[in-house]
Amino acid sequence: ILEIKNLTKSFDENEVLKGISEEVHSGEVVCVIGPSGSGKSTYLRCMNLLEKPTSGSIIFKNDDITQYSEKELNKVREEMGMVFQSFNLFPHKTVMENLILAPMEAKNESKEKAVERGHRLLKQVGLSDKADAYPSSLSGGQQQRVAIARALMMEPDVMLFDEPTSALDPEMVGEVLAVMQGLAQTGMTMVVVTHEMGFAREVADRVLFIDEGYIIEQGSPEQIFNHPENERTREFLEKVL
Ligand code: ATP
Ligand code: MG
Repeated sequence: ILEIKNLTKSFDENEVLKGISEEVHSGEVVCVIGPSGSGKSTYLRCMNLLEKPTSGSIIFKNDDITQYSEKELNKVREEMGMVFQSFNLFPHKTVMENLILAPMEAKNESKEKAVERGHRLLKQVGLSDKADAYPSSLSGGQQQRVAIARALMMEPDVMLFDEPTSALDPEMVGEVLAVMQGLAQTGMTMVVVTHEMGFAREVADRVLFIDEGYIIEQGSPEQIFNHPENERTREFLEKVL
């Protein structure tokens, strides 16, 4: 569903991604791991053109989206939901208002239909009773689950997650990971940058280890975690496991 070809990205002199080629297949869960500053976020942001690649191409559903206009890209970004470390909910809107805003504006969906789907998704993320709550009254874990539901409102083909649990108190990490695991079980295509090695081991179909702008090693969780071949992968895992 996504094909990344010879992707490079530089910020001024700093070449952050040095040539990444990879394919993400429909229904696949790919976890991206690697040291801080290795380019994981940049890589994810290039996938939906939040960052413009310096060279290379991103093929999404058979189209090279690096050639797209900003207007066409807005459409693409609806089809690739993104969830960040920070939840970015609108503070003066209720949970349900947060959910229905984008589908009503971008897709011209009726309020009735959007609300109906909103309730379904709140149930999916375990927050059926929070439709009328304001974000500030929710815990970090609950807010992040709302953010996931909000991204799902657009019925994306792919979901991109950039360390969705790293801003959370430890006791809330589990509930968010559980929602993501549930989502993976529905067959959603997911690319997840994470420091949660337990999640990667359990949920990922494939794990990518990125360091210094390259994919150093990739494979099944079993291969990467139990039999890493590359010295740098081994060093990294020793530190984090
Ligand atoms: P972390 O695990 O800490 O989130 P990361 O692997 O996500 O790290 P990136 O955020 O992709 O790393 O950053 C990789 C490099 O790119 C860093 O050296 C960073 O300073 C640089 N960088 C990222 N975004 C920008 C930007 N908008 N402008 C300039 N440099 C940037
Ligand atoms: Mg990052």
